[in-house]
This record gives sequence, C-alpha cells and structure tokens, in this order.
Amino acid sequence: MQIKEIIQFLEEIAPLSYQESYDNAGLLVGRADQELKGLLITLEITEAVVQEAVQKQCNLIVAHHPVIFHPLKRITGATDAERAIMQAIRADVALYASHTNLDQVAAGVNAMIAERLGLYHTRILAPLRGQLKKLVTFVPHAHAAALRTALFHAGAGVIGRYDACSYNVEGVGTFRAREGANPYVGRVGELHLEPETRVETIFPAHLEPAVIEALLTHHPYEEVAYDIYPLDNPHPGVGPGLIGALPEPMPVKIFLQHVKDALHTGCIRYTNYPGVIERVAVCGGAGIFLLPKAIEAGAQAFVTADVKYHEFFRAEGRILLLDVGHYESEQFTVDLLDRLIREKFPNFAPLKSEICTNPINYFS
Ligand SMILES: [Zn+2]
Repeated sequence: MQIKEIIQFLEEIAPLSYQESYDNAGLLVGRADQELKGLLITLEITEAVVQEAVQKQCNLIVAHHPVIFHPLKRITGATDAERAIMQAIRADVALYASHTNLDQVAAGVNAMIAERLGLYHTRILAPLRGQLKKLVTFVPHAHAAALRTALFHAGAGVIGRYDACSYNVEGVGTFRAREGANPYVGRVGELHLEPETRVETIFPAHLEPAVIEALLTHHPYEEVAYDIYPLDNPHPGVGPGLIGALPEPMPVKIFLQHVKDALHTGCIRYTNYPGVIERVAVCGGAGIFLLPKAIEAGAQAFVTADVKYHEFFRAEGRILLLDVGHYESEQFTVDLLDRLIREKFPNFAPLKSEICTNPINYFS
C-alpha cells in the first residue's frame, strides 16, 4: 500500500476544504507515492517523535497539529520543528496533519471528547455555511433513473439521515445541433424538442469533481446542460464544536470530577454556575469563540481549552465554562485516528506514539 491510500482515506473523513483559512493541514513533508512501511500517530510532531518513527520503521507520521503552520523562510535547525522537518526529510519520513478539518467533522476531535464524557444525541454546535452546492441538470426521461443513481453513488443527495434525495420535474428541452456535432437525438441543422427530466440534487462542495464526473459519464448527450448553485444553507455535518446530553443531570462538583477522570486532566479552571449540568457543549483546543453558540444552544456547561482570564468573565453565571487544557482536550484524537485506520485497513496496524508531547506540567 502507498502512503497516498492512507491520505485519501483521511481526507474522505476530514476533507482538506473543511480546514480554517489560517490552517495548513494536509501532507507537509514527503511524497504520497512512496510505499507505506509503517505509520505513527501523534498529536504533535517533534524531533523526538520523528526519532521514534525512525526507530519503529515508520515512514509516515500522522499528526493533529501541523508542524509547518506559519510559512518557514529558512530551515536551519534553530527550532525543534525545524529539526523535526530536517530529520524527517533525511530519513524519508512523510509528515501529514489532519487539523481544523478534523475539528469540523461530526466524527472528529470533538466526537472523542463527547464519547469520553458519555454524551449522547450529539450534533455540530455551529454548522458551517458555504459547504453545500446544488446540481441541476436536464436529461431524457429514460436516462433519469440511471443518472440519479450515479450522482447518488458519487455522494450527492444526502440530507441528514436520508440519502438518494432529489427533486424531478418533467419538461421539454430544445436544441439545434450545429455543423460538426454528433447529437444523441435530433439531426444536425434541425431544431429538436426532447422531453427531459429536470433533476435537482444537493452535494457537499468538496465532492464537486466526483459529482460532475458522474454526471458527464452517465448523461447521454454530447454537450450536457447543467447548473451548479452555491448554497447558503448550513451543513449540519460540518462545523466546530459538538453539543450533547449526559445520561442524567449532574451537580457541578460531580460533573467536574467526571470531566477530570474522563479527560485525564491534572487541572480544570472553571467559572461559577448555579444549576445542574445536563446539556454539554465541547470544543477541543481553543474554543472560546463558541461560547455564545453554546449558551444559545442551551448548554449548561462548555468544555474547551486555552481560555484567557478576561474570557472567563463572559460566562456570567449563564454556563459552566471549563478550561481542561489544550493537550488534555485533544489527546484522544490519537485513539480516534488509530481506530479509524484500523477499521478501514484491518490488515494494517498503525502505532500510537509513546511520547507525551504536552509541554505543560501541573504542580500541586
Ligand atoms: Zn489543538
């Protein structure tokens, strides 16, 4: 198996187009067409992690945080990241990051936090707009069913728990084939009227190449008429944060202990909250931007990290705001990637890094 097969799979789960504009997810170092010898999963790529990969004969490291985040102007070994990159290139180890794109999918980073906290009925806290498009095309009646099937197979027509969604209306198409054309119906130089079905269906924007390929392959016409509309609808399956419910309400102190145990965190910073906790919003890493969404969605607690002193004031007793630590909130992403890759490639066993890359200690 080549490295690109792992990459293709990871990008089916978390397409790169879902990453934030400031992010740098994807293949950062190395070639995708190399034979995969071994795969090491980590939250962070450090020099020590690259050494671990070399020792364990892994030539691909899959990380959550991109080791190249800000553009590098020189690679001289002045920083740990530069030394990690230099060593990876020398040892022919490819470096790949699935970062904010993995934060934005329902089965991503936040799903692991929700799973550990035992939340159920989870949904994306802030569904993103601009991730959906609509395809409209016009096809002879007899070909409509086969074309729809091909479009659905390419990933079109999924709305929530439903698939094969489309709208179809019958009408008449007109065209005149010009000199040099090879029309499927009608004659060159003559106006033709053809009974056609107008097929409309929705698709995630990142699947556009596959959907168009299916359209052009399964439509009988030489020149296929179709429209693609960008949609402003939020995509319920893509966006930051998750919200879900605990099996039963918990008093604040019990909930804090529950979070501490579930996320193996040495320290939780939190605000005062007068009520009990049942609905919980989560966002791995720096999630304070979602505080208004968490309150609006009716969460009694918001579990995130990287909260600054002044930002804690914004809770104002309306929600229990918890800072559990950036590393602590995201560490189970390694287990998630390990599980997903093992399920997809049962004959291939990735390794999880044994190095704790958390730069923060707690003194108590
Ligand atoms: Zn992070």
